[in-house]
Amino acid sequence: MKTVLISGGGIAGPAVAFWLRRFGFAATVVEIAPGPRPGGQTVDLRGVSRVVAERMGLLPAVAERQVHERGLEYVRSDGRRSAAMPAELLDGAGPVAEIEILRGDLAEILAGATSEVEYLYGDSVTALDQDPSGVDVTFASGTTRRFDLVIGADGVHSRIRRLAFGPEDEFVHHLGGYTSYFTVESPEDLNHWMKLYTAPGGRWVGLRPDRDPRSAKALLSFRSPLLSYDRRDVEAQKRLVRSRFEGLGWHTEHILKGLDAADDFYFDTTSRVVVPQWSRGRIALVGDAGYCGSPMAGHGTALSLVGAYILAGELAAANGDHSRAFVAYQARMQPYVDQRMDLPPGGIKMAMPMSALGIGYRDLMLRVMTSRLMSGVIAKSAAAKPDAIDLPEYPEYPECSVERGHPLRVAAEEAE
Ligand SMILES: Cc1cc2nc3c(=O)[nH]c(=O)nc-3n(C[C@H](O)[C@H](O)[C@H](O)COP(=O)(O)OP(=O)(O)OC[C@H]3O[C@@H](n4cnc5c(N)ncnc54)[C@H](O)[C@@H]3O)c2cc1C
Repeated sequence: MKTVLISGGGIAGPAVAFWLRRFGFAATVVEIAPGPRPGGQTVDLRGVSRVVAERMGLLPAVAERQVHERGLEYVRSDGRRSAAMPAELLDGAGPVAEIEILRGDLAEILAGATSEVEYLYGDSVTALDQDPSGVDVTFASGTTRRFDLVIGADGVHSRIRRLAFGPEDEFVHHLGGYTSYFTVESPEDLNHWMKLYTAPGGRWVGLRPDRDPRSAKALLSFRSPLLSYDRRDVEAQKRLVRSRFEGLGWHTEHILKGLDAADDFYFDTTSRVVVPQWSRGRIALVGDAGYCGSPMAGHGTALSLVGAYILAGELAAANGDHSRAFVAYQARMQPYVDQRMDLPPGGIKMAMPMSALGIGYRDLMLRVMTSRLMSGVIAKSAAAKPDAIDLPEYPEYPECSVERGHPLRVAAEEAE
């Protein structure tokens, strides 16, 4: 039985552990947090990611915790609606999809579905040393273990990527913003709408429905060049966020009060992750660690679930021959990843204008787009494009699917 260490117990990590176990591998997950991390807003399961969740048997648990959102409403500083994008407008391709679930709930469901997997919470990898037959791993706790393979599922700031592939700035491209998510008491009945107030200076203040209508998922995002801060110092990050939002209208003051008390605060850059080759010898990347279009592009959860399935499935199909499997994994996934990395038209500048004039222009565009005259045309042009990937049925899948001579396979064979 091949042993696989997975760094990161978010979405991609438990998902790949689930499938590896199903296919007969021994999976161990190391997660730096003391347990499954709560927090985050709603994420969606659409297209092939929904099929993967179904094959994992997760849909009944997801259905139990599903959040129903009617769409996205843009509000002014006094709370009046300036534009709205109902879920059905973009025919499922817009910001709100058919199946929405809180990210923290999905993380919990995945942890439950992998309860037989070995989890090492509160620990992390500090060194990796691979040779032709395995990888020696040193943990922050001081222990050392040897695994056949190592998978980096440790998010945008992946330590595995840094140790095995190179420094973060080679792969992570800052898009000019930061986002924080946390739970607050709901200051109004959101009536199943996500509400977003845009303040001058490129700032978003948002509230998204929670499962419990008495609370809401707050979002505070701002445009900024790269900042230097301690990623482990949550209180300093809260102070940083507070300093950017004090004095703004709508429910900002209420949300900032909730910020101090929040125990599920999450803060990170708005960044894209592009890694040309997702494996180095016996080490591979999955999810945000390897490919991420940023929260503005969305699809992070979908890419993680599908990537985890394909990675584990190709390892099974290649009978554990990682060099063939890793190549097949990337060859299958790359078109889908490329398809799902794009930002909405106009990118962060259009979405988060700096001036009141820019906000007025954006809202006018939104009203035109959602007007009765235009909405049919927009719905047609934005209609959900089929996912650029076919999902194989792995247990019956006999062989590594990438033919000899494929550039990725050649590169991997050379790297071996
Ligand atoms: C708390 C939280 C809330 C989020 N909320 C949202 C949201 O509301 N909307 C959205 O679009 N995306 C959100 N994301 C990001 C989203 O989960 C991912 O884009 C997507 O699901 C891909 O998942 P992932 O497993 O690759 O990365 P992540 O979900 O980021 O998981 C990575 C995991 O690795 C762990 N980790 C990090 N460094 C190490 C290390 N050195 N050793 C071991 N473990 C490590 C992290 O603690 C985390 O659990 C959130 C992420 C987190 C962690």
